[in-house]
Amino acid sequence: MGGVRETLVLNASFEPLATVSLRRAVVLVLQGKAVVEQARPGRQVRASAVEVPVPQVIRLCRYVRVPFRRRAPWSRRGVLVRDQHRCAYCGRRATTVDHVVPRAHGGADSWLNTVAACAEDNHRKADRTPEQAGMRLLRPPFEPSPSDALVLALGAYGREPLPAWLAPSLPEPASA
Ligand SMILES: [Zn+2]
Repeated sequence: MGGVRETLVLNASFEPLATVSLRRAVVLVLQGKAVVEQARPGRQVRASAVEVPVPQVIRLCRYVRVPFRRRAPWSRRGVLVRDQHRCAYCGRRATTVDHVVPRAHGGADSWLNTVAACAEDNHRKADRTPEQAGMRLLRPPFEPSPSDALVLALGAYGREPLPAWLAPSLPEPASA
């Protein structure tokens, strides 16, 4: 998902926040969440039956508060958003959160110990580690980066306020 991150996203206050794929940028503009501040001259991109300028810089219509130097607090909903609702074991749609090291064995509620999982795989794995269950993670769990967190939140939640796991704190932006 995503592709090359080629469009810069500015906060409503014009501070740079993140870079996103062209497709994501166009979606944010079409959904009225952002406006184009700078477009590539002479080029158009076709989206939802309309032609729009190729955005190089977009600006969010609503100010997003981004306190730095703290980590995004863990939440089940945040794990599903981070993993784009894809099961970490089979890649199908995930609706549950699996603890890689089960809580019964002391596994923590943390970004690095939890993944999105389909109900079937979650049930099959039960109170076992992936090794014990003979299951393999398609990708390791990770702490969401500030730009991933922002982009996922914007994409997933439409006009709702940012989800609680994102809004109160974000780690420092990674240097691109
Ligand atoms: Zn699955």
